[in-house]
Amino acid sequence: MKTYSKPAHFEHNLIVIGAGSGGLVSAYIAAAVKAKVTLIEKHKMGGDCLNTGCVPSKALIRSARFLATQKRAQEFGFKSASAEFDFADIMERVQNVVKKVEPHDSIERYTELGVHVIEGAATIKSPYEVEVNGEILTTKNIIIASGARPFVPPIEGLKALDYLTSDNLWDLRKLPKRLLVLGGGPIGCELSQCFARFGSKVTIVEMAPRLMIREDEDVVDLVTEKFIAEGIDVKANHKAVAFRENNGVKEMVAEFEGEEVIIEFDQVLVAVGRAANTTGFGLEDLDIELSPRRTIQTNDFLQTNYKNIYAVGDVVGPYQFTHTAAHQAWYAAVNALFGRFKKFKVDYSVIPFATFTDPEVGRVGLNELDAKAQNIAYDVTTYGLDDLDRAIADSEAHGFVKVLTVPGKDKILGATIVGDHAGDLIAEFVSAMKQGAGLNQILGTIHIYPTWNEANKYAAGNWKKGQVKAWQMKWLARFHGWMR
Ligand SMILES: Cc1cc2nc3c(=O)[nH]c(=O)nc-3n(C[C@H](O)[C@H](O)[C@H](O)COP(=O)(O)OP(=O)(O)OC[C@H]3O[C@@H](n4cnc5c(N)ncnc54)[C@H](O)[C@@H]3O)c2cc1C
Repeated sequence: MKTYSKPAHFEHNLIVIGAGSGGLVSAYIAAAVKAKVTLIEKHKMGGDCLNTGCVPSKALIRSARFLATQKRAQEFGFKSASAEFDFADIMERVQNVVKKVEPHDSIERYTELGVHVIEGAATIKSPYEVEVNGEILTTKNIIIASGARPFVPPIEGLKALDYLTSDNLWDLRKLPKRLLVLGGGPIGCELSQCFARFGSKVTIVEMAPRLMIREDEDVVDLVTEKFIAEGIDVKANHKAVAFRENNGVKEMVAEFEGEEVIIEFDQVLVAVGRAANTTGFGLEDLDIELSPRRTIQTNDFLQTNYKNIYAVGDVVGPYQFTHTAAHQAWYAAVNALFGRFKKFKVDYSVIPFATFTDPEVGRVGLNELDAKAQNIAYDVTTYGLDDLDRAIADSEAHGFVKVLTVPGKDKILGATIVGDHAGDLIAEFVSAMKQGAGLNQILGTIHIYPTWNEANKYAAGNWKKGQVKAWQMKWLARFHGWMR
């Protein structure tokens, strides 16, 4: 590691590089505690989440869902329903949604909050100096929140194609007739379903044995069944090996069980993961350490190998979510500004996330795959949403709540919900785990009838029933016999 001379005085307490979720929250916290903070953004305020990630994808999902519901008109008691649409209008709606959310992340808002915002590309010159627009700013601390970008795998012929990623997809105004989606993770799955619902013939190709490989098999099975029912061609266990054009027809060559499979398509969306943005802004010159996954290596306090340079969000991982970037931002900002008094280790013990497919998948903590991989003993309790009154009323009675607990104890290890509103429903388990509450507390809490939330209570009820021993039931029956 190089050594650098430290200025006697600093213009800033903190400089934050990147105004995505991680950078915005870091700067917000610093300004809230009256630190002098500058936030530097080279592209668009709000980063990926606002411009090319969460916000546009959720807006697109909503429009696609409208169409899917309309196609089920008879299930809801209508003779028929139709929806005429122009895909360009749908994409314009998506942009309008982004514009409506934009003020939340705007320069005006952050300036009002006390953050000095600079538009420009930042380069770290030394642990105490950041260059932007030809000017050198001195700072006691730096937070790197430079995010990630779609990873484009080095597959023969792919670069030569006009491929789509989550970066440029939002410029589409014409619906692809045949869309090939490379990657069956959350982004690939969410977008596959949207495009299929709008009428593209979608093929989703995944190298692993199934979609959403980090989720339990019974969870993924429900999502896959729905995809297939909606006409998506799900090709798991298929490894893309080459792309080519044959007489003007685009083709992908894949390997499946040792055989060559050819898949024709009009456009391809590459969604195989996201690579951290770690080059071109000084990290190499400073020898900032990277992890084997090519993310910035930090310690538990989110410090890089320079004690005053921190990193948060997608550029660090291990999670790549807006809310985890924001969570890390608190630790990095507080450790940077108050670390001389007390430093906090980032807490990854209760991390929730959701995949906004239909059915939705919401998760917190361990699932069965994790528990098995980590050799953690667990009990499983499930509650089927086909039994839930509100789900039946909504004609969405499918899916389940699955809770993992420590055997014989009221301690939640994790929960997965697959079904409508799963991303919202999981919040009760997130709170319970965070507050150290168990299923007894969920069971003892009044849930409004008829709501989807009741599913959590019924899952807790199933767990409770499972805790009762056979001899206790026998004894109770005998007791009531005596009482008659
Ligand atoms: C299609 C899609 C859907 C998603 N859906 C969800 C979801 O539903 N829920 C969820 O939680 N997450 C979702 N995500 C993930 C989420 O968008 C990211 O986890 C989040 O944006 C990470 O925030 P960040 O601050 O780390 O990085 P980013 O948002 O990428 O921000 C980094 C910023 O740094 C800037 N920058 C980089 N280098 C420099 C430099 N040298 N100088 C100045 N500026 C620089 C970039 O321009 C960028 O604006 C989704 C992502 C995608 C792609």
